[in-house]
Amino acid sequence: MEAVLELCGVAKDYPGHRAVDSVSLRLERGGFYSLLGPSGCGKTTTLRMIGGFETPTSGEVRLNGVNVNALRPWQRDVSTVFQNYALFPHLTALRNVEFGLRERRAPDYAARALRALELVQLTAKRDSLPAQLSGGEKQRVALARSLVLEPQLLLLDEPLAALDPRLRKQMRAELKAMQRQTGITFLFVTHDQEEALSLSDKLAVMNRGRIEQFGSPEEVYLRPATAFVAGFLGGMNWFGNTGVRPESTRVTQTVPQGARARQGTVESILFLGNYVHLNARLEDGKRAVAELTRDQSRFAEGETVWLHWQPADELHFK
Ligand code: ATP
Repeated sequence: MEAVLELCGVAKDYPGHRAVDSVSLRLERGGFYSLLGPSGCGKTTTLRMIGGFETPTSGEVRLNGVNVNALRPWQRDVSTVFQNYALFPHLTALRNVEFGLRERRAPDYAARALRALELVQLTAKRDSLPAQLSGGEKQRVALARSLVLEPQLLLLDEPLAALDPRLRKQMRAELKAMQRQTGITFLFVTHDQEEALSLSDKLAVMNRGRIEQFGSPEEVYLRPATAFVAGFLGGMNWFGNTGVRPESTRVTQTVPQGARARQGTVESILFLGNYVHLNARLEDGKRAVAELTRDQSRFAEGETVWLHWQPADELHFK
């Protein structure tokens, strides 16, 4: 498959600090990609170098095989949706969406802008100013404004961060649908693992300026390359050097047969709606969590139990 974007050993130094450290990445056309990592790991800096808002200290940013390091943001066929939307406050929703096309003197700007507003289901708010729109609606305008330019690559910097959890989930599904509908390659930055896992064809997990793993959601979750990736993508119990996910950790009152097991004491049981988290303290003082269905949970706080798991569910790291 053809690569839209290639990062080749890209690094960014700020005085006394390396924010991005030799990052290499290849994005194929038409995919939904995410950059996932904790605050300060270098996600935004990486995105800004791709968009042309920062210059790499070393390495190359290539779009369609061409080194674009020296090109300004507007000279690249890349569009960015910022976290704070960055809408023009004095322009209506429609005018905001038209803006980039008018700058480019696209003759069919009016029809294209209307189609983009339709795509984000905001036709009814075309004449509203940003101040008259809700957070979710502003986000849709920002998205339409970028989509309408039909860029080779759309960069999204935590675009759902300001939305309430319900709207966030709804927008998440809509984003994915829009990506599929337009065929534009999306690169989505987030520190929310659920968001990255549910949206991406492939995600890059970043830590301290480096990509620790790049793979499909199943690969990074089920076969994490490092202990950091394993811990960042979900809960993890550590039995010595062996990692076991809470959903693979079982609990019994009697000694289990044939499985690997540790004894512990139930510290608390948290009801989480459709499942229950049993928190236990092991004999070595460490804590472990078992995710159980409601009917599996017949345990009491203070009770001595066995936590056990199957060898196939073990994760090992160097
Ligand atoms: P967040 O999720 O909090 O937005 P991030 O992963 O996007 O974090 P970056 O914004 O890329 O992280 O920052 C990476 C590191 O570089 C951080 O330690 C940050 O303090 C530092 N940094 C970012 N921009 C600058 C700058 N202009 N000057 C100096 N240091 C910077």
